[in-house]
Amino acid sequence: MTMAPVDPSAPYDRDNIFAKILRGELPCTKVYEDEHALAFEDIHPQAPVHVLVVPKGEYVSWDDFSAKASADEIAGYMRAVGKVARELGLVESGYRMIANIGPDSGQLVPHLHVHLCGGTNLGRMIPA
Ligand code: 5GP
Repeated sequence: MTMAPVDPSAPYDRDNIFAKILRGELPCTKVYEDEHALAFEDIHPQAPVHVLVVPKGEYVSWDDFSAKASADEIAGYMRAVGKVARELGLVESGYRMIANIGPDSGQLVPHLHVHLCGGTNLGRMIPA
């Protein structure tokens, strides 16, 4: 599926792919779920471990989430991201968290997601 870059000022689109996954309308390979977050494998992994962690609330990006989410939602989501990384065994070897926000980042799905990547040496953060 071809997706356009996310417009950060657009309202939340309830038909985005991750909203459909959260509602159970599209399948995913679930890694973790609690009241605040769902984690599942990226469909096109770019590292041996590549998991996406999404908050359950309707937030387009980190910008939207950090401005509008409640303290409970923010704490719950942050704790879930850390817990998933620990449960995946990524802490000792190390891992990278990526959150793309808006056009220059290449964000394609307009529901906040953190990429958790690991399982190999990931090289430079931003390739030269
Ligand atoms: P973004 O560029 O928005 O930060 O990343 C979107 C990510 O979502 C990409 O890594 C892409 O592979 C992943 N993705 C897109 N569609 C699906 C899907 O239907 N299921 C899953 N599990 N991942 C998806």
